[in-house]
Amino acid sequence: MSQPQLITVLGATGSIGLSTLDVIARHPERYQVFALSGYSRLAQLLALCLRHAPRFAVVPDDSAAVTLRDGLRAAGSRTEVLVGEQALCDVSEAGEVDAVMAAIVGAAGLRPTLAAVKAGKKVLLANKEALVMSGALFMQAVRESGAVLLPIDSEHNAIFQCLPTHYGQGLASVGVRRILLTASGGPFRCTPLPELQLVTPDQACAHPNWSMGRKISVDSASMMNKGLELIEACWLFDARPDQVEVVVHPQSVIHSLVDYVDGSVLAQLGNPDMRTPIANALAWPERIDSGVAPLDLFAIARLDFEAPDEVRFPCLRLAREAAQAGQSAPALLNAANEVAVEAFLRGRLRYPQIASMIEAVLEQQPVVALDDLGAVFEADGKARELASQWLAHNGR
Ligand code: NAD
Ligand code: MG
Repeated sequence: MSQPQLITVLGATGSIGLSTLDVIARHPERYQVFALSGYSRLAQLLALCLRHAPRFAVVPDDSAAVTLRDGLRAAGSRTEVLVGEQALCDVSEAGEVDAVMAAIVGAAGLRPTLAAVKAGKKVLLANKEALVMSGALFMQAVRESGAVLLPIDSEHNAIFQCLPTHYGQGLASVGVRRILLTASGGPFRCTPLPELQLVTPDQACAHPNWSMGRKISVDSASMMNKGLELIEACWLFDARPDQVEVVVHPQSVIHSLVDYVDGSVLAQLGNPDMRTPIANALAWPERIDSGVAPLDLFAIARLDFEAPDEVRFPCLRLAREAAQAGQSAPALLNAANEVAVEAFLRGRLRYPQIASMIEAVLEQQPVVALDDLGAVFEADGKARELASQWLAHNGR
């Protein structure tokens, strides 16, 4: 029997991080944890370290390190605590590491995810914001290092499973006409439009089918998540924005589809549980048990589809426009969205203002080429500055 693979889980205390550790724990003969990172939930990170015995745990600052070290010492753990962004990069590129789960939320995940890519690791990509911000540079780094990039987003993992193994030369070369990206429509799919003025963060985070972190839950409610996923799909599968069609499918059973020129449409189905794409990517090209219950088609009984409503979901239109504009537009969109969602979650913005803020930022900031990572963070910073100014004038 070969040695277990060593895995770094960035964002271990989050929804994806916990699902990843659940799958890993089912297969101790195949996987061992090399490093875990957490940001604010230190008690949870401590419990995960005691459960999974990683060699390293990474926290954001010295005071968090003192707290975690005290807890680990009291429990007799030998896990070593490291601090800061460079440490996140170090545990992602370390020679012993076989695979990195990139599950930090938002732009904060870009540098460590890119470190894993540049070190040629198997990279399990949940952190879609990293790819949206820096798509061209990110994919160039994948090609140069030979990293194996495996999508964790359920839609992209579904598309990946429906494409032939070697699709590297563009969609047309493997006979693909379109990608059909499914979307649940979120909690506000049928809410009367005037009521959207008053919806609360908790209502936005109450997703009908998926249990997720709060930022992606708000993105799902606004359908910015689908917009970010459209951009993500273009980079992962070398598609043009007009080759990706969004299909609202409220049951979240079909996770996406691929439409071929001969009229065949391949879909991947499953219960809405992220352990399926996580297990798929961890074991790829093999298959392992994920702990997810078998799909009961008789209980589901029907599958519905509808076109997305861009009046109800202006973020989807903004993301499609940013995908078409390319260059720095997706980075601006992403950064403005991160500021807007944070402000909404803190009660400083009304829900419909999320789209208004993003649109205002995109109108003010010209689109430029992104030749290096410095330019990516410059665009990101500029959009955050404009968004904060907008918030100061229009927020509450
Ligand atoms: P979450 O909020 O539950 O977890 C986020 C993780 O990132 C936590 O471990 C947190 O400690 C860490 N983190 C937060 N801010 C950080 C910072 N500034 N520096 C370092 N670490 C930080 O989020 P999630 O739902 O697990 O989502 C994680 C990523 O996966 C997101 O990019 C999301 O879009 C993507 N994703 C999630 C799901 C899902 O079902 N939850 C599905 C598809 C894609
Ligand atoms: Mg998704």
